[in-house]
Amino acid sequence: MVSRPRILIAGGGIGGLAAALALQRAGFEPRVFEQAPRLQPVGAGIQLSPNATRTLVQLGCGEALRDVAVAPGSLHVKSWRTGRNIFSTPLGTRCLQDYGAPYYHVHRADLHAVLLKELGPEPLHLGARCTGFVEEEGGVRVELEDGSHAWGDMLIGADGIHSSIRTAAFGPEQPRFSGYMAFRAVLPAERIQGLRLQRDLTSWWGPGRHFVHYFISGGRQLNYVAVVPTRTWHLESWSVEGSREELLSEFQGWHPVLQELIRATDRVFKWALYDRDPLPRWSRGRVTLLGDAAHPMLPFQAQGGAQAIEDAVVLTSCLTRHAGRPQEALEEYERLRKPRTHQVQMTSRGSAQLFHLDRPLQVLKRNTRLRLTQRFRPDVLAHRMDWLYEHDALAEAERFRGL
Ligand SMILES: Cc1cc2nc3c(=O)[nH]c(=O)nc-3n(C[C@H](O)[C@H](O)[C@H](O)COP(=O)(O)OP(=O)(O)OC[C@H]3O[C@@H](n4cnc5c(N)ncnc54)[C@H](O)[C@@H]3O)c2cc1C
Repeated sequence: MVSRPRILIAGGGIGGLAAALALQRAGFEPRVFEQAPRLQPVGAGIQLSPNATRTLVQLGCGEALRDVAVAPGSLHVKSWRTGRNIFSTPLGTRCLQDYGAPYYHVHRADLHAVLLKELGPEPLHLGARCTGFVEEEGGVRVELEDGSHAWGDMLIGADGIHSSIRTAAFGPEQPRFSGYMAFRAVLPAERIQGLRLQRDLTSWWGPGRHFVHYFISGGRQLNYVAVVPTRTWHLESWSVEGSREELLSEFQGWHPVLQELIRATDRVFKWALYDRDPLPRWSRGRVTLLGDAAHPMLPFQAQGGAQAIEDAVVLTSCLTRHAGRPQEALEEYERLRKPRTHQVQMTSRGSAQLFHLDRPLQVLKRNTRLRLTQRFRPDVLAHRMDWLYEHDALAEAERFRGL
């Protein structure tokens, strides 16, 4: 019997698990090494835009995802103090109609569970922290913190923004601090029933900061992310707990709905926001990067997870097409993925300026322009994300086969 190519994956986050699933489906033997002793994704929600859900459906996760997701009806962007709409645009039915894939809000734990259920437990090794790798004749060896190692045909670094695989391949380098931090919280929906919030995606824009909320867990929980500027706070970790009082003081004077959401919160976590300039290379020999390890981005387009999922299927397609020729496969993977992830990284950076304007004249101009666009050219607003959402990463990679 011919043995299946063994692909080592450092990191069992969204990108690592999606890659493992895509590879397994394509006949490879993936092995995921995750540093955490238990898979315990952050207790927060994630938006999955149609480019991500399309790919997850292709991977066979469509039904399971639908069971745990909330499909928002619309996006509403509101003014911080008055709550007056700056613009609204439909999401739910329109995404299905225009892009053939849904827009979903899910709890991260649910997304992990869906991916893991499809993957099965076998490929996953927990409590396995990767520290580096050694390239050998015909393969690569990943080294683990406990002194053991594993051998494979290829290694994928899907170990996040502080990737040890990237450091081992290209040397140490600091990510770029954005000057912003995010507060995140999840609370039971029944607690804020009185607010009668719609099952929509709502973003409140105010001077220097913004606040986003949406329902997850089939509507049983509400997730929010509040982004504020900071000069002093640089620790990047989900385990740092903030306080309700701190958050209330950051959003003093904002609309009463937001005050009420904050007051209804038990625990809130803080996270400093980093990205990187696009890397010149993602691959060296039989080793490559994927997801935040390759292209960390600010969360203002809600695309980091989506891009990691896209990477996973494109990389799998390239490895399949160039079986036994890793260099060619990885060159093609980079050629297919870099321009798009670069564009998303830069768009995400740029969004902060639009969301956080604070000079009254600039705010007036922005809001008037958007309100007029909504009134006279709603199609412009509805289609502004086409380049992101209509993308079919798998089809794009398969098309490349013919070029
Ligand atoms: C506030 C905020 C909101 C966001 N909202 C969205 C959104 O709505 N939609 C969206 O698509 N994206 C969103 N993102 C981005 C998204 O969370 C990330 O882009 C995504 O999690 C990246 O996945 P990943 O698998 O590449 O990396 P990670 O999720 O960071 O996973 C890396 C994994 O590798 C493990 N690991 C790390 N080092 C090692 C090692 N040395 N050995 C073994 N394992 C290791 C980690 O424990 C972790 O499990 C948001 C990000 C933030 C900060």
